[in-house]
Amino acid sequence: MKASSYHYKTLKDAPSDTELVSHKLMIRAGMIKPIASGIYSWLPLGLKILRKIENIIREEMNKGGCLEIYMPMVQPKSLWDETGRSDEYGPELLGFKDRGDRDFYLGPTHEEVVTDLARKEINSPKDLPLTLYQIQPKFRDEIRPRFGVMRAREFLMKDAYSFDLDEQSMRDTYSKIKEIYIKIFEKLNLDYRVVNADSGSIGGSSSEEFHVLADSGEDLLAFSDKSDFACNVELIDQDDVEKIPGMDSPDGKGKLDVKRGIEVGHIFQLGNKYSKSMDLKVQDNNEIKYLEMGCYGIGVSRIIAASIEQNHDDKGIIFNKALSPFDLVIVLINQKNDESINLKANHFYEKLNELGIDVLLDDRDCSPGIKFSDAELIGVPYQVILSKNSIESNSYEVVSRSDLSKKLLTEEELFALFS
Ligand code: ATP
Ligand code: MG
Repeated sequence: MKASSYHYKTLKDAPSDTELVSHKLMIRAGMIKPIASGIYSWLPLGLKILRKIENIIREEMNKGGCLEIYMPMVQPKSLWDETGRSDEYGPELLGFKDRGDRDFYLGPTHEEVVTDLARKEINSPKDLPLTLYQIQPKFRDEIRPRFGVMRAREFLMKDAYSFDLDEQSMRDTYSKIKEIYIKIFEKLNLDYRVVNADSGSIGGSSSEEFHVLADSGEDLLAFSDKSDFACNVELIDQDDVEKIPGMDSPDGKGKLDVKRGIEVGHIFQLGNKYSKSMDLKVQDNNEIKYLEMGCYGIGVSRIIAASIEQNHDDKGIIFNKALSPFDLVIVLINQKNDESINLKANHFYEKLNELGIDVLLDDRDCSPGIKFSDAELIGVPYQVILSKNSIESNSYEVVSRSDLSKKLLTEEELFALFS
């Protein structure tokens, strides 16, 4: 991509109503633009990252045998009345009437819609097990939308729902999907933890959360220093959070330590809560069985903010290769007055594209200083500096975004680095 024909527009300062680093940096980098409280447009740079995350998730879900569907965002309230959740879910549900005076909600989650779909589609044990998923905008009228896309009102979620004939196979499916989640978060290359959690208004018997560790995280997580015990502190019976570090672990093994985390995924064993209230059942020999369900969410858009909270410095974002909108920025110095620089840049660009490297060629008509600080701000893993001098000496400065270390490489070494 050539920056001169890309919408590469950054801001020097973040708006005054932004608190969290990720919110400030995403706005300054030109990834998102607010339109109302907790509601954002995604600009080309931000959308590119969102799509990369989506693709990693989709690939792993598909590999694991989950089937992609797309359910409507607009949901009849009557479905929510069947489970009694219109009242339970509370004011986060945003509703409206159609011209025929029928009530609808903008979907905050899809248990009701998918259970309705399943009772129409699943007719016998032969249709089981089945896991359906979608990647779709959700709407929740959050009481305090804040921190940009971290806690938005409209946000992108991957939500999956599993259907099994009995409890044991539901648990097996749950474990399989947990493994898929682990693969996804490994590929995203973030420092994350899986912890036991409270099931909240979604319900069911057991749930675990995936957290990206970051000091700014809203959730407090407790870990044993001697066992695998890890939970969201909301589960621990304690009067004073400060007392947790050093407390005996509830599993009797070791002492607790605490860290802050950002919830990016949540997986639930729902059991038959929804199948019973919505009459989702099959006949197995002579027995009528209510299906056993699980549900599995990932906050796709929140992952970007969480990654930035975990990886940034005073110059901007530090993306890893999996999330970065580009693999490399080539900064052209004074290309306006020297056609040889443009020729070399095109050569680099084509050669790197052939190697599968996604390059942003910064050929904008602005000062080198702006180009460097923008490259640092948007967090691309490498910058290469291309000037008259570097061409003449066949010596190109390569800056690594993570530690800002520099090395000089010949053209051949540079291609070798990226191949
Ligand atoms: P939270 O405790 O943060 O409100 P939740 O328990 O309401 O989350 P789930 O219903 O489990 O969240 O939704 C699945 C995932 O969607 C969450 O793990 C989170 O990553 C993401 N998510 C939830 N609410 C928001 C929001 N308002 N903005 C962005 N992402 C969200
Ligand atoms: Mg919530």
